[in-house]
Amino acid sequence: MSQDLHAQTLTQLAVGLERGDFSSVELTEALLDRVAAHDQSLNAFVTVTADAARAAAKRADAARAAGDIGVLNGLPLVHKDIFCTKSVLTTCGSRMLENFVSPYDATVVERLANAGAVVLGKTNMDEFAMGSSNETSYFGPVRNPWNPDCSPGGSSGGSAAAVAARLAPAATGTDTGGSIRQPAALTGTVGLKPTYGRVSRYGMIAFASSLDQAGVITRSSEDAALLLGVMAGFDERDSTSIDHPVPDYTAALSGSLKGLRVGVVRQHFDEGLDEQCAAAVRESLAVLESQGAILTDVDLPNLDLSVPTYYVVAPAECSSNLSRFDGVRYGHRAKDPDDLFDLYCRSRGEGFGAEVKRRIMTGTYVLSAGYYDAYYLKAQQVRQLIAEDFRTAFADVDVIAGPTSPTPAFKLGDKIDDPITMYLNDIYTIGANLAGLPGMSTPCGFVDGLPVGLHLVGPHWGEETILRCAHHYEQLSNWHQACPEDYE
Ligand code: GLN
Repeated sequence: MSQDLHAQTLTQLAVGLERGDFSSVELTEALLDRVAAHDQSLNAFVTVTADAARAAAKRADAARAAGDIGVLNGLPLVHKDIFCTKSVLTTCGSRMLENFVSPYDATVVERLANAGAVVLGKTNMDEFAMGSSNETSYFGPVRNPWNPDCSPGGSSGGSAAAVAARLAPAATGTDTGGSIRQPAALTGTVGLKPTYGRVSRYGMIAFASSLDQAGVITRSSEDAALLLGVMAGFDERDSTSIDHPVPDYTAALSGSLKGLRVGVVRQHFDEGLDEQCAAAVRESLAVLESQGAILTDVDLPNLDLSVPTYYVVAPAECSSNLSRFDGVRYGHRAKDPDDLFDLYCRSRGEGFGAEVKRRIMTGTYVLSAGYYDAYYLKAQQVRQLIAEDFRTAFADVDVIAGPTSPTPAFKLGDKIDDPITMYLNDIYTIGANLAGLPGMSTPCGFVDGLPVGLHLVGPHWGEETILRCAHHYEQLSNWHQACPEDYE
């Protein structure tokens, strides 16, 4: 058996399994060994489901022998710990859910399992997906495989680190303001956030319901296309799921970039963007141009309002969504309460971390009777303007391209005490969430040994276009194949 199974992408592993080069049991054991060897230093996992993975791998091998298999048969992956998994701990990175074992599977988990995927475990994340560095997790920060002193980004940092370190070929993630794309950029992986409503949110613990969307972190766009095809599609259990046909995303990867209109947002290259990151992104745009893409300047005049708008809308929704964690209906319960009020106060006080409390308080404030019009209503209006900016831009272009994140990975501890600086990390990604658009990040170079991401945003249902664009770029650049030295 080949010793380098961990180095292969999902698509390559699928070929190997099909050819009988190795079994799913062998593959699963090889990856579990790697998790055991490396996760102590990375802290990418909250839970490793070794026994369940072995059993699933055995079933996958038996199914293959019987000739009855799904498209992901025997392929390993990991789930962000925000997705409910039946009989397995689902913590959402919080003390509040430290002991929560879900009685059911999220739709995403169910669909991937039905296609034959083998789940290796649940990955670490910022508490309730609030953060950009993975430092708000109750289970401690995740380390970046490219430099252990740096953050892998967040909130899907555990998923990104696990994929970058080749502990798993693919991971699920969620993206409310950039939590798939920013960690993908900071770890040199591919991250895809689909159109709002494309993938079911059923069983995905809600942070900000009008922004949250499930997606994937992989090592290639080809793999992202493969997984999206399985995850996407209408789900009657999610009232925000949209009944829109699911195309063949893999087939959509081929075809040339000739004539593809790529919008470059002027404001993206203003101050705030690291110069070397800007250079890497500009080089990648030149590569697209060399393939026949047409670069055009586009304007998103209200872009600078996206972060403030997000930090009204997202906390407002989170303050409502997280009210269910009161020690009675869900979550951590304080010991020996004096009365009901004491039970609520202490359960929530002990169960939530500082960032989550900050958001709940902000959200409660902007929704309060005296401030609703001034903050929440105003933010909803500005959100419409931002969506309108994108609509106008997409009248002239097929894709909008730019940087995913203003800097490469930053040091753990550097921003955690300064929420505003931390919030600005998502300046390029939040717009897509406010407008419900699909976005992805693919590696486009390095600055001081740390990966940089190229951000591609498409119009609604434009996943095929951004995947094709990223896939072509990957074939020409090969940045996505770079591997952190300690994890080869
Ligand atoms: N970093 C952003 C926040 O803290 C986005 C998080 C996310 O996408 N889940 O809210």
